[in-house]
Amino acid sequence: MREVADGVFFSSGCGSNWILLREDDELTLVDAGYPGDAPQVADDVRRLVGSPSKVRAVLVTHAHVDHIGTVPGLLSHWDVPVLAHPDEIPALHGEVHDQAGARDVLANLSAPHMARWILTVLRAGGLSHVAVPSASPLPLGGPLDVPGHPEPVASPGHSLGHAAFLLRDAGILLSGDALITGHRLSVVDGPQMLPEFFARDPQAALDGLDVFADLPVGLILPGHGNPWQGKVREAVERARVRSASQTSR
Ligand SMILES: [Zn+2]
Repeated sequence: MREVADGVFFSSGCGSNWILLREDDELTLVDAGYPGDAPQVADDVRRLVGSPSKVRAVLVTHAHVDHIGTVPGLLSHWDVPVLAHPDEIPALHGEVHDQAGARDVLANLSAPHMARWILTVLRAGGLSHVAVPSASPLPLGGPLDVPGHPEPVASPGHSLGHAAFLLRDAGILLSGDALITGHRLSVVDGPQMLPEFFARDPQAALDGLDVFADLPVGLILPGHGNPWQGKVREAVERARVRSASQTSR
């Protein structure tokens, strides 16, 4: 875990990232890793605020297992609201399953590093079916009244109700899986889209990058890959160019 801006902490686990926002000794957790990341998430919280009772909210960019994997376990010890975009709630409740499955993986077995990635997922508990029945829809239209005051930015495509979060004053975008900067299946670093088979609607995900382009952002904290410094418009352009070069191969 490292502090990337005042009160903004970035942490990487088995194969995905989460972010902790600290304000006045209280925390917001944004995403929560794979099930196998539970000890690290709990340790991050302990190091920052001492006790899980100081966590005011868990925000979820989307309901995939690499982002909500530790939430059910954490909720058995923590009494904290879990919030996501209204369109993502059915997936979080486990009423619909909106994630790449074994069939998608088998169809893409020849992708670079696939064997290594499958091993990571197996070790991280990524085959578990994780749901959060207590999750509720977050209010849209402005900063949330939780530590760090993140502002939801609807960014559907990767999943139906994917939301990124903007820290307007800090100029930081928590982009989730709508825009990433690296992945165990990727051979390059820097702004890019996840492989298409992970997305519910890859074209919508690509088109949807427009919502980020004019945001006042100089630092992107993605769901996969390293923090990326620079104008978000440039990141969007780079992701589009990379995506076009992949599909033309
Ligand atoms: Zn992910």
